[in-house]
Amino acid sequence: MEKQVKIKIRNLYKIFGPRPKTALDMYLKKKSKSEILSKTKSTLGVCGVSFDIYQGETLVIMGLSGSGKSTLLRCLNRLHETTQGSIIMDGQDIVQMDYHKVLEMRRHKMSMVFQKFALFPHKTVLENVEFGLEIQKTPEYLRKEKAQKALEQVGLKGWDQFYSPQLSGGMQQRVGLARALAVNPDVLLMDEPFSALDPLIRTDMQDELLPLRKNIQKTIVFVTHDLAEAIKLGDRIVIMKDGELVQIGTPKEILLSPSTSYVEKFVESIDIERALENIAKNP
Ligand code: ADP
Ligand code: MG
Repeated sequence: MEKQVKIKIRNLYKIFGPRPKTALDMYLKKKSKSEILSKTKSTLGVCGVSFDIYQGETLVIMGLSGSGKSTLLRCLNRLHETTQGSIIMDGQDIVQMDYHKVLEMRRHKMSMVFQKFALFPHKTVLENVEFGLEIQKTPEYLRKEKAQKALEQVGLKGWDQFYSPQLSGGMQQRVGLARALAVNPDVLLMDEPFSALDPLIRTDMQDELLPLRKNIQKTIVFVTHDLAEAIKLGDRIVIMKDGELVQIGTPKEILLSPSTSYVEKFVESIDIERALENIAKNP
């Protein structure tokens, strides 16, 4: 099957602080990060990143804490303003969109699933899912129908009148996902949604997301610092270090041919044989 590019990221830079242009110049002249920081009081969040995200794939952004994963993700939906570069989605540069267009994109094309799913405990499951539609200004008579459909998609039909604290962690995750899905976005952004959880619950959640991922047929950009999680969930993985992209590839490619010692260290930390077996089971 021919792969279609959904989002094209080119030469993307995000620099935090008062003197981004000077910091960028220094970076291009190969000055060290500490020198750049002390001279410009500016931090390089993402440096010169380019890659494509395919329609319908789950792309995982992985790397140590501080490597620029969240910054990269947040440039996609303009929670951060990009310093330089372009992000082309469906022929439009997200970096150049005016604010009205950005809001429209967030309401209709790209939703974010927040850490711990940010559910309202005093609202029913249905009301939680309707919330995204309210923001989207969907007329009231359509909201219930769309919210019910999203609940069905995540396997929570019949749970609409429950309150989120009555649900298990995995089910709460599905409510959060249903809320993001209800607006029928093309792209879902997820920033370490499982990182704050106990290992066992976390494994459950990953297992729940796997079949859903296939069902919903969305483009998903998923951030994690855990290579095992990246391998389990990703069609492809982007590995970040100090704001730079160090490797992009399928889980198998990353496992079998890590491009640098940094990637190798991650790979050494997991059970490679078992990971490869799992990939064979869930291609
Ligand atoms: P990750 O998500 O991989 O842990 P981040 O994208 O949050 O990393 O951070 C990348 C770099 O950018 C870090 O050095 C971090 O300190 C810096 N950074 C992130 N957000 C901000 C901000 N709002 N202001 C200044 N520096 C920031
Ligand atoms: Mg982060």
